[in-house]
Amino acid sequence: ASTLRLVLGDQLNPNHSWFAQVDPHVVYVLMEVRQETDYVLHHAQKILAIFAAMRDFARHLRAAGHRVRYVALDHPSNRQSIPDNLAALATHYGAGQVQWQHPDEWRLDAQLKDWGKTQTHAQTLSCEAVDSEHFLTERSELEAFMQGRKQWLMEHFYQHMRRRWQVLLTAKGAPEGGQWNFDKDNRKRWPGTPAEPVDWRPQHDHSALWDMVQRAGVASFGDPQAAALRWPLNRSEALACLDAFITTALPNFGDFEDALASSAPRLFHSLLSFALNVKMLHPLEVIQRAEQAWRAGQAPLAAVEGFVRQILGWREYVRGIYWAHMPGYDTQNALAHHLPLPHWFWSGDTRMRCLHLAITQSLQTAHAHHIQRLMVIGNFALLAGLSPQELHHWYLGIYIDAFEWVELPNTLGMSQRADGGVIATKPYVSSAAYLQRMGDYCKGCAYDPGEKIGERACPFNALYWDFFERHASVFEGNSRLVFVYRQLEKMPEAQREGLRARAAELRGRLEVL
Ligand code: FAD
Ligand code: SF4
Repeated sequence: ASTLRLVLGDQLNPNHSWFAQVDPHVVYVLMEVRQETDYVLHHAQKILAIFAAMRDFARHLRAAGHRVRYVALDHPSNRQSIPDNLAALATHYGAGQVQWQHPDEWRLDAQLKDWGKTQTHAQTLSCEAVDSEHFLTERSELEAFMQGRKQWLMEHFYQHMRRRWQVLLTAKGAPEGGQWNFDKDNRKRWPGTPAEPVDWRPQHDHSALWDMVQRAGVASFGDPQAAALRWPLNRSEALACLDAFITTALPNFGDFEDALASSAPRLFHSLLSFALNVKMLHPLEVIQRAEQAWRAGQAPLAAVEGFVRQILGWREYVRGIYWAHMPGYDTQNALAHHLPLPHWFWSGDTRMRCLHLAITQSLQTAHAHHIQRLMVIGNFALLAGLSPQELHHWYLGIYIDAFEWVELPNTLGMSQRADGGVIATKPYVSSAAYLQRMGDYCKGCAYDPGEKIGERACPFNALYWDFFERHASVFEGNSRLVFVYRQLEKMPEAQREGLRARAAELRGRLEVL
């Protein structure tokens, strides 16, 4: 062989131009390595789903006639590091060239680039990185688009993307329905109907693979396969999931996008993030399927626009933020929050029902929807002053769809505002009133959402006011927070003192809340 081509675990796109032709001089290399299982403590399902999908992908490539070298985690030849394995395999196959698709994580990108440079310098191998052919923007495109603007706003970028990719536009280029954003029609509480669609995802039993991972000594947390491993593991399964979402959930996606429901953990969300992030699905095909559903009268415009905005807008936007601010973005801590994560992040064992439900679900399924991540878990972490770095590692480990390019800007930026406000124009925090309004989580909680101080008062309430008081120097001048500071000003000093004392007491015993 003259060329090795590396396929990473989140590059499982059978439609990549690499695979258009069979070339006997090319060996495709996939590897399960400790370097990737161990950079953070991962949810068991994340390790399992990625390895199972990689194995499936290797089978698919072989069946299509390609030469494939699959390095299993427990194979004696495995050096457990990507560059070390590549070097050994290049020698083994007598390869003169190694190619890889641009990795999405800065960590891997830098590692491969550095390795490539040494190889080229020593004239041992020629190394080349090619496009992954997945995203709808180049890495540096957002930064270029925002150049010279005082504030980066997702909405500007999103409208540009709608025009550029011709999505939900009239023949004259105006937004369908006369507006770009239908958010005000969305965000309802879910009254229990329509019913949550049945879980359309496939069921896999991967106990043998899990035994191997455990024998190899990989540490993990979370449930390996609650009843079964329910993530799509190849493109045909992912396409079937996309179909099921479009027909059974998309029509109600918008209405209940922000709802919280203890009896309906998935609600009308797509559960497509894993399939998208490992590139089994292309973002444009998902967007176009949703648009077609609206054009065929199968889903309302507000739902379809809301869904499209997540993928065409937010997903590409956070990726642009990541590449504009890495390296160094991951160590920012603008609000100087340093408290460690309480133990119940790994057990769900807290009397705060909202956190108990969201964390237990995450441990069981490796998934939580956006509002659980942002307004339940993230909200609490920010109000309590937990370390954004510890929280980032927790999110990066627990969610099936967590890859640093998308997880980091969402967690550290949008949710914890540790980047000083690059993504979020105001902090995403709330008192219990918001959580109570958006669903039934407060029903049956040991705490009272209506109380601010006292033993039974919901912790979110005192922590909320204390957060704004503690960080007045950062937020007081923010035009979106005028109302909050006006309310604080109006509060009698005795009440403020009571809230301060309650917040200090709560922050002192987070472990037992
Ligand atoms: P749906 O609600 O059905 O949305 C459809 C798709 O839109 C998703 O599959 C996803 O691809 C995209 N999307 C939606 N919101 C965002 C967003 N804010 N940023 C980027 N893409 C978005 N998403 C990840 O893919 N990986 C992560 O590691 C991740 N970490 C997050 C951490 C925090 C603190 C927060 C607040 C959000 C995070 N998100 C992350 C975004 C979002 O919560 C998930 O994409 C979503 O919950 C995945 O479930 P779904 O496929 O059912 O999404
Ligand atoms: Fe969460 Fe407070 Fe409601 Fe309990 S009362 S579920 S802690 S918001």
